[in-house]
Formats: sequence, structure tokens, C-alpha cells
Amino acid sequence: MSYAKALRCRECGREYPHAPMSICEACFRPLEVIYDYDAIARVISRERIARGPLTMWRYRDLLPVESEDVIDIDTGFTPLIKADNLGRGLGLEKLYVKNDTLNPTFSFKDRVVSVAITKAREFGFETAACASTGNLACSVAAYAAKAGMEAYVFIPADLEQGKIVGAAIYGPKLIAVDGVYDEISLLCRELVERYKWAFVNINIRAYYSEGAKTLGYEVAEQLGWRAPEHVIVPVASGSLHSKVWKGLNEFASLGLIGPVKTRVHAAQPSGCSPVVNAFESGTMEVLPVRPNTICKSLAIGNPAEGYYALKTLKESRGVAIGVSDEELVDGMKLLAETEGIFAETTGGVVIAALRKLVASGVIKRDETTVAYITGCGLKTQEAVMDKLPPRLNIQPSIGSFEQALRESSLQKG
Ligand SMILES: *Cc1c(COP(=O)(O)O)cnc(C)c1O
Ligand SMILES: [Zn+2]
Repeated sequence: MSYAKALRCRECGREYPHAPMSICEACFRPLEVIYDYDAIARVISRERIARGPLTMWRYRDLLPVESEDVIDIDTGFTPLIKADNLGRGLGLEKLYVKNDTLNPTFSFKDRVVSVAITKAREFGFETAACASTGNLACSVAAYAAKAGMEAYVFIPADLEQGKIVGAAIYGPKLIAVDGVYDEISLLCRELVERYKWAFVNINIRAYYSEGAKTLGYEVAEQLGWRAPEHVIVPVASGSLHSKVWKGLNEFASLGLIGPVKTRVHAAQPSGCSPVVNAFESGTMEVLPVRPNTICKSLAIGNPAEGYYALKTLKESRGVAIGVSDEELVDGMKLLAETEGIFAETTGGVVIAALRKLVASGVIKRDETTVAYITGCGLKTQEAVMDKLPPRLNIQPSIGSFEQALRESSLQKG
């Protein structure tokens, strides 16, 4: 049973019964799931949530699925780490890292895909598919395998090895497209008309994106049932950014937490920062760009929900920050060296943006701040491969070891 009532157009308000569709037929804007919040308010409580499984499915009252047996590989409820070492260096007393690298396929995409594949099966689909910048391909392949469904995942041909292998291992049809994500997305929008497949981020998108709300819920619960003052969210299509905000506000309106004063900041690599560009020029119109960055996970030049990210920035008084490839590599190293967390390039973007937000005085010393670390560094080793400390090559003898030590300290000297 589900409290999700219907789909509703985010602009004209027209409602549709549950169906694998994500665009309003009247005005072509995105559809969103709506809920019977009065009914949810009658049953939900902190205690009820706390009794739930130690996964994102502890929030199932607020997720749009009917099935009792959801497609899950132990998704979410990842650690919220107090990042004291990193915080000390930056001058922050209450800095936390939400470590979503610890999901089944090592990125936050497992949250949205667990919902999408469960919903796809409810709709009777036998095949799952997606247009991906990498992590989504891994996730769809894994959850489709778990569900016993076929999977067709479309990725840019120039993706990192870690993501290619990290998707292929689950046995999907892996289609490497000679093009950027935005071209793949257009191709898949044509394919969805021709094949009866559940494209998780196209025809199932309204359900899929709801899974991202759990990154808002979890942080609030893990902070002791309150919203932080700042969060830093990486932006690709813009979905996660606005859903973290939606999740926090749902919790507040259900009385699970107090009023939300969270500023929801957005982080993008400057080689692909259409949302930052619009924010900086003070418009709500996102102009597409041609991506040119090593942060391939965020390389979406024409973000489907860029407008809603801008709206969230406005409503929450967030700031959008762009960071260079060099700054994001420094961010990856800083997080690893201070907190022992190896994030992918996207995590580097978030940490570099955090630094800028502190330097410009937006985030103050005693304000509770959460950096969302959404993907694992083993998938993007290419970014740091030639920027690591040199290693000592030795023969298996004490003499060789000590000689190498002497030489390396001379080099340092
Ligand atoms: C997809 C992705 C995001 C952002 O997702 P959107 O909801 O499309 O903005 C953030 N981090 C990682 C690692 C991702 O793979
Ligand atoms: Zn509409």
C-alpha cells in the first residue's frame, strides 16, 4: 500500500493517475508524485521510522511504491561522519560528511534506482534502461540483476574504467555511445517511444527522483532530528539538489523536525556549470553548455531539472559554486588525507565548493554543515593517478629499503 496519490504537473497542476510517464501532456513540464500527507501524518512518527530497516526503506511511507517486497540490496542509511580533521583545517566546528560512497554500487544513484526498479516491476516492465553519466549505469545494471530484469544501459564511450567495469559486471547490455550525455539522453527519449522499457530517468523519472529525498531525511534523522544550517549538493541534472530540499521540508511539515532554515548550496565543475552560470547572471533560464571536465558524473550540459535547482537555491538562500578541475582534484586529496574517505571527482567538487563557501564567509565557524559525498573514488582513479605521492621501489632487502628511504628524504629535503 502507498500514500502516493497521483502524478501532478509541476507547472500547470494537471493530475494524472500513476503511469510510466514523466512529462505533462498539456505543457510539457515535469510531473511529480503527490502524496496524501494527512494520511501520512496520522501514522508517521520518529519511533515508527526508527523501528524500520537500516536502509532508505525506513522512509517508505514517503516513497511512491506499493510493493511490500521492494528491490533492494541494502540501500542507503549510510554514515554521517563528523569531519573534525577537515573541519579544523577549514575553521568549522560542526562539519559532517554524508558518506554515500558506501552504497551497494558505490554511489547515491542506488537510492533513486531502488525506487525506480521497484516501480518498474509494479508497472509490469521486464526490461530496465537508462541514459547515464556512469554511476546510474552501474546502479541500473545491479538492481535489474537483483530484480531478474534485463537491462540496457547507455553510457558515453569515453567513461572511466571503474564505471565501465562497475556496470558491465552485472551483465547488462552495455551500450557505449560515441557522444556526450546530452546526446545519449536525446537518443533514449526516442527509444522510449519504440521499446517497452522502463528508462529509469525518462519514463520512470517522477518516481526515480523521489528516492533522492532520502538523502534529506537521513541527514535530519542522523543529526538527532533536525535540519543542518548548510548542505552542499553536487548538481548534474539538478534532481538531487531539489529533492534534498523537498525531503527536509516534508519532515518539517509532518512535525518530525522543527522549521527548516537549511541553505542548500549547489556545486558544479566549471567545465560544466550551466546552473552556476544562470545563478551568477541572476536568471532562471539555464543555457546549455558543452561539457569539458574530468568530473564525468556531473557532465550534463542541459540539465533536465536545472530550473528547479535554481528555484531551490532561491527558496533556501543557497549559493551555486563552480570549481576548476585542479581544485576538484585538490578537494579529493584533502578529503582522503583528512578523513580517510576516497571520493570520486564529484566529491572533490563538493569539498572544493565547501572551501570557497567558507572562504567567502557564507558558512560560519559554528554552523552545522553537511557535505554530500555521493560517489566512490575507485571509479575515477584516472583523475588522481598521476597526482599521488611517489612510491618507493625496492629489492626485498633491508639495505635496499633503507637506501630508498634515504633517497626519498633527500628528495624531499
Ligand atoms: C548523478 C550524480 C549526482 C547528481 O545527480 P542529479 O540528481 O542528476 O543532479 C551527484 N553525484 C554523483 C556521484 C552522481 O553520480
Ligand atoms: Zn502541465
